[in-house]
Amino acid sequence: MSPRLGTAPDMGPDVLTPAGETGLGGQEALPVGSRPVALSELMGTMPLGMAVVDRELRFVEVSEALASLNGRPREAHLGRLMDEVMNPHSSLGDTARRVRRVLETGEPLDGVDIIHREPGAGVERTRVFRASYHPVLRDGEVIAACIYVEDLTERRRVEAQRDAGAARERAVREQALRETQEAVRARDEFLSVAAHELRTPLTSMRLHLQLLLRQVTGAHPELGRELAPRGQVLERQLSRLGSLVNTLLDVSRVAAGKLSLEPRELDLVQVVRQMVDAFSEEFARAGCELSVHVSGTLPGQWDPLRVEQVLVNLLSNAAKYGAGRPVEISLVGEGTMAVLAVKDHGIGISEDGMARLFGKFERAVSERHYGGLGLGLYITRQIVEAMGGSITVRSAQGQGSTFILRLPTQPRAAPAVAPAVVVGGRAK
Ligand code: ADP
Repeated sequence: MSPRLGTAPDMGPDVLTPAGETGLGGQEALPVGSRPVALSELMGTMPLGMAVVDRELRFVEVSEALASLNGRPREAHLGRLMDEVMNPHSSLGDTARRVRRVLETGEPLDGVDIIHREPGAGVERTRVFRASYHPVLRDGEVIAACIYVEDLTERRRVEAQRDAGAARERAVREQALRETQEAVRARDEFLSVAAHELRTPLTSMRLHLQLLLRQVTGAHPELGRELAPRGQVLERQLSRLGSLVNTLLDVSRVAAGKLSLEPRELDLVQVVRQMVDAFSEEFARAGCELSVHVSGTLPGQWDPLRVEQVLVNLLSNAAKYGAGRPVEISLVGEGTMAVLAVKDHGIGISEDGMARLFGKFERAVSERHYGGLGLGLYITRQIVEAMGGSITVRSAQGQGSTFILRLPTQPRAAPAVAPAVVVGGRAK
């Protein structure tokens, strides 16, 4: 005979009394509302799955909630063996085994997940419980085990739905990323093919224009002189088209990791002077008074075509965005660096614009007012960084801009910025 559960001493109105006892301890005289709550009363009403089982595995108490989880009325449990009430072959049947262990060892078992498959009409219903088993001790002796069962079915269903939703969202995001990457790849491929295709007829047109003008001048010198200004306009426009096409080609080279550098000994002062000369007409047309602060020589190893390309971009931007105001150009050597500054007093750049303008296709002005692809500074930065240098800008809206280029006088050993950039052997 297992020890019976006793009555807690000196119970206040909120204290539990065990099953089988009135728990009123001679307090029947008290008004109903002041009497202590009996454990059986509590078990009959509380919504928690809870039971007390004695050493013989008999239900001493069971809450209404747990009884309904077992699919039997509460009364069908009380005083009955666990195996009589619960199917020992079902997942719930393992409960008896765990209770026995707790009774034998006196050690609690916490957070045991139970997956229970209930055969329903046609469909099997899966329910998930979490159970804990605790010994009930008296004078150091285990006299019973208490079972707590939480029904997690609904919570798990909500979690599973949320996980499935998150997985769906992740899949949609990944798909969108793949499509974007594919679209970018297709665009770069298109740029590369289009630029190559455009270059051939352009080169041919320039050659034929020069030939035509020479032939006309040879046969009819007066007509040649008359046509010369138109020839120059055509020449300028063709060369503009040519440099746009080259820019597109460079974008695809950067994307393909084929932007090449061929450094050789140069005097940067001389290159800057030549470029300023070549641009003097453009600055004059833009109404920019030019002041150039360069002196002596500044020797170093640079790719002449790439340096020219960078200068073309900075000077043409100064003429375009600084039209009607003076432009100052300076070049100095600082240790192993050549520092070139192009300063205009034009429209300037907003803070937001400055954060973006070295990016691909990024512009800080509207197309209606200023034409352009938004690629010049992107390519410039790629080239400058491939040379181991840097390009920065100081500007404020409406207050002009200063672009500062820092180039090391010697090429570095290996490209640090982009494995994408090939030094030596220009890509064709
Ligand atoms: P593009 O001139 O073809 O638009 P760039 O890459 O050369 O492309 O320049 C990117 C943007 O940076 C320009 O659209 C313009 O908004 C801004 N920008 C460049 N240079 C200047 C400058 N000197 N003054 C003001 N804004 C400039």
